Amino acid sequence: MKTNEEQELITKDKEHLWHAMHRHNPDASPMVADYGEGSWFTDKSGNKYLDGVSGLWCLNLGHGQQEIVDAATEQLSKLAYFPLTFGHEPAIELASKISELLGGNYRTFFSNGGSDANETAFKIARQYHRQTGNPEKYKFISRYRAYHGTTMGAMSATAQAQRRTKYDPLVPGFLHIPPPYAYRSTFADAERDDELAADFLEQTIIWEGEETVAGFIMEPFISGGGVIKPQSASYLKRIREICDKYNVLLIMDEVVSGFGRTGEMFGFMHSENVKPDMVSMAKGLTSGYMPLGATAIKNEIYEPFKEVTGNSHFRHVSTYGGHPTACAVALKNIEILEREGITNRVKELGTSKLSKLEALSSHPNVGEVRGVGFLYGLEMVSNKETKAPLQDEAMNEILRECKNKGLIIGKNGDTVPELGNVLIIAPPLTSTEEDLDFLLNTLEQVLETIKH
Ligand code: PMP
Repeated sequence: MKTNEEQELITKDKEHLWHAMHRHNPDASPMVADYGEGSWFTDKSGNKYLDGVSGLWCLNLGHGQQEIVDAATEQLSKLAYFPLTFGHEPAIELASKISELLGGNYRTFFSNGGSDANETAFKIARQYHRQTGNPEKYKFISRYRAYHGTTMGAMSATAQAQRRTKYDPLVPGFLHIPPPYAYRSTFADAERDDELAADFLEQTIIWEGEETVAGFIMEPFISGGGVIKPQSASYLKRIREICDKYNVLLIMDEVVSGFGRTGEMFGFMHSENVKPDMVSMAKGLTSGYMPLGATAIKNEIYEPFKEVTGNSHFRHVSTYGGHPTACAVALKNIEILEREGITNRVKELGTSKLSKLEALSSHPNVGEVRGVGFLYGLEMVSNKETKAPLQDEAMNEILRECKNKGLIIGKNGDTVPELGNVLIIAPPLTSTEEDLDFLLNTLEQVLETIKH
């Protein structure tokens, strides 16, 4: 039931608001969220929902963290805005905190979000190679199914056809290779899939000409592309070796997997002794309380930008990148993440609670359950033998039924069944055990009634 107030808002919404990702539907009844508490939010009519995807995988600490609100208020009163062409305390402190979290030796360039952070990485990589005697190195390689953002460069790295085809031509110089994906191994060899996927990177660099390849961008665990992960930590080690061998910069997109989501502060930390050349982050950096993007760059990569005269500086600026309030929020967010031992919490509850999702594998439409920490995907199929993806309509039915029972979960895309058949579960990292039980029980009940 909708209250009159909500109904009026919906009428205005239909006239004036262009919703992200949504097909026009005059009969739709959009959700009008009103307030949030922990992992839950309430709409204008008082209906409560558990947010099983943390907004857009960003609300790591959940709603209602008063300390973050206070930090934002204090910063806004003190210094409403200041650009990073100069500097301010929250950005300085945050840059040094990010370096510490990454194990030291990084310098950070701030922006407004994940797409922006990746664009920054691409520009730094091209300029770096130009200034170190490799002016022909301009190409970037990313992996099919990956999502790296919405702006033209980040979308060119994004390798999901349905998000790209209406916006061609995209930025030249972006290539794609298969990700490790044992369930549908490109190489028809599930056991050696990781190894063969890494070999494919090396082969591509050789075929393209190593002197032309500037960088390789990857998420440690593909998130929006359907929660796809390598089977072992050795994949990333091998990727690092290949990048080193051919002087290709390794850009780690930690926009989703950063800040505790997978049970480590950053997803790449599941593989020991691997250090990316650049790390892009956003979302969990502020737990979504303010927009902020960051690109952390190894100090060695900064070296050629150090010339005090000449034209070697990075001519890149964004008005709001590193906004003082966003940086103050991020600092408080990180303080809470650390104080509350969130990574251990995610490891423990990921194992004791969310891993119970694996039991859903016995459902006739659940092809594979994949997950790490608080990041899970259920790949849905209409036939387990052929692995034919479950169609969009059936996927939507599941989401709708969950919503009717007060649970919001996501899926990885739409229109093309092959790219939209993974149910996504990524609740706030502060979710209580009761919240997680509600999530598990509701999803199980819904799947019990929907079988195709
Ligand atoms: N990289 C990844 C892995 C993402 O999931 C996203 C957003 N979903 C982005 C980059 C882009 O971030 P933003 O929406 O903040 O631009």
